[in-house]
Amino acid sequence: SPVLVWFRDDHRLSDNPALAAAAATGSQVLCFYVFDEESKGIRRLGGAARWWLHGSLKSLNDALEQAGLRLLLLRGSALEAVDTVVQATGASAIYWNRRYGAAEIAVDSAIKARLADRGIKAHSFNGRLLHEPWEITNQAGRPFQVFTPYLRAVNARSIQPPLPAARRLLGGVWARSILDQAVPLTELGLEPSAPDWAGGMRQVWQRGEHAAQARLSRFVETGLKGYAERRDRPSQEGSSRLSPHLRFGEISPRQVWHSVMNAVAAEPSLGLDAEKFLSEIAWRDFTYQLLHYYPHLPDRPHSSRFDNFPWNQDQNALKAWQRGLTGYPIVDAGMRQLWQTGWMHNRVRMITASFLVKHLLTDWRQGEAWFWNTLVDADPANNAFSWQWISGSGPDSAPFHRIFNPVTQGEKFDPKGDYIRTFVPELSRLPPAFIHKPWEASPTILREAGIDLGETYPEPIVPHGPARGRALEAFRSLRDME
Ligand code: FAD
Repeated sequence: SPVLVWFRDDHRLSDNPALAAAAATGSQVLCFYVFDEESKGIRRLGGAARWWLHGSLKSLNDALEQAGLRLLLLRGSALEAVDTVVQATGASAIYWNRRYGAAEIAVDSAIKARLADRGIKAHSFNGRLLHEPWEITNQAGRPFQVFTPYLRAVNARSIQPPLPAARRLLGGVWARSILDQAVPLTELGLEPSAPDWAGGMRQVWQRGEHAAQARLSRFVETGLKGYAERRDRPSQEGSSRLSPHLRFGEISPRQVWHSVMNAVAAEPSLGLDAEKFLSEIAWRDFTYQLLHYYPHLPDRPHSSRFDNFPWNQDQNALKAWQRGLTGYPIVDAGMRQLWQTGWMHNRVRMITASFLVKHLLTDWRQGEAWFWNTLVDADPANNAFSWQWISGSGPDSAPFHRIFNPVTQGEKFDPKGDYIRTFVPELSRLPPAFIHKPWEASPTILREAGIDLGETYPEPIVPHGPARGRALEAFRSLRDME
């Protein structure tokens, strides 16, 4: 009888432990994917991630077809779908790579139990992380709360080499009864039709395993050198931009890790840049560990101290932030980069998130939800953790009183204003001295740059100094309540 491979956020053929193990049985392999918006607690994907998923599934199906297989798409509750597939195929076993969110684990456990009743074995693997959450613990066997000792523990362990793509995959034939239930990819409705808001994303991204590998090679060859410094420059392509590929498992962190280590072995001067880059890959594992042990991370402040934070409910302020119309050029450029391309530079994610939470005193969950909807790399662990980090409420967070000044941050990391000129074109003719603070330019300079402040570009939505004071006051009020 055939064996099944259930793909979930591991859209690749190489270094895919579930697929490799299924292939190694020598049995016919049948591959499927379930678009599940029904199971309890599974978070519905945001718009940009749905767009990515469409291309990712298409590319996975193309790769499987080249190997003589096909990807069957089903829609609905995973428990029901797996049941249907198992019954229709008479499969003897099922293979998948593990997931780490509480709702996903509950679904997988329920499926495992039901399959066990039928005498069918479910084999699960780590296809997503360098180390699984329970593999890296402190001396008390508990998860780390702080990244530095976590990283030390990671560095003390070796990282499994990636598996090559399965050399021989024996495709099986899907029974008519199940093919009738399959959904064509276009019917999942993942890509926008009217209005087509994905044009900017199509220009910037290529989805799928092949594109992910090409991006990794290019980054290792040309981007790794100087990464530690260039990663903070939003006007440059100074980071790998692998995040959506990692999010959908089009590439594995082990592949990234070993490719970088190989480059360092050949060129030792890359060592410091590689160390910095690989620590970011380890951050990703760290956030998954935290999500695993603290499944409330996307939903409520980790520190209960923030439970009664006096958040501002001003919807107009939230809208101005979402649309990139706050009057602070670095914030607006970031929010527009996000809307147009589905991605935002890390430094600017920090600045825009801090601005929403601290200058506008808006609940971080509103920001998390907006990023969830608009990022192609929207990730349950990284996104929730990062928002809590910025807000001061998460494990190993930045302290609340560290409030980014959007002007000095802009001047430091985008000194000539090139990033602003790209995403806020109405300011493009301002000289560098004023591009991060147009309100300080004289009427003549503004006129020459074609800017009518308050008309063609907004005045700052809140003045920095008083906004900072208001945020600190709100934070102090929490302490008074204790
Ligand atoms: P690189 O610098 O090339 O890093 C390589 C990889 O390491 C990334 O692809 C990512 O997987 C991982 N990584 C890098 N930085 C971090 C970090 N700070 N925390 C965890 N992992 C990291 N990242 C997401 O993948 N999805 C999100 O939804 C997400 N939301 C964020 C929200 C906020 C408010 C902030 C401040 C950061 C968020 N990040 C998120 C982290 C980070 O901004 C992105 O991972 C990074 O910008 C992706 O670009 P890159 O692939 O070029 O990164």
